[in-house]
Amino acid sequence: MNQPSPRNLEKMWKYARNFARKTGTCLSPVEGVTEAVLMGLAAHMDEFGKPLCPCNFYPDKSSEIRNRRWLCACDEMQKYKYCHCMLFVREDGMPITEHLPEGHEGREMYGEQADPAPHLGRAMREVPSEGIRDWHSRPDRPQPE
Ligand code: SF4
Repeated sequence: MNQPSPRNLEKMWKYARNFARKTGTCLSPVEGVTEAVLMGLAAHMDEFGKPLCPCNFYPDKSSEIRNRRWLCACDEMQKYKYCHCMLFVREDGMPITEHLPEGHEGREMYGEQADPAPHLGRAMREVPSEGIRDWHSRPDRPQPE
């Protein structure tokens, strides 16, 4: 991976710290994880101007960016508070899986992991899956500043 610009790396650090605080999550305590994910997000900011999640393979990144589903904070984070990159996790480093639907791979991998701050975050908790596209155009959607 190319080294991202210091400006976007700093921007992503600021965003991640603020988002973790607002959602009652922690940045990964595992050495190197937070740094690697933020480097990936910042590299996508450099390339596309958007924080596309770095933990997926995309056949067509431009189309994924238009779709918005995997712009950080992604739909899974906003709806279920689950971060499969392990960037936004609990204090003990485990991902939050409590809100995931039955059969989701996160539940299969990690079991049920309780949300220590269920009153925070999950801006999309009430949004049905089919309403997600409309929700993306709302001006109050959390965005990196
Ligand atoms: S919140 Fe979603 S987009 Fe952001 S790092 Fe985690 S999995 Fe990727």
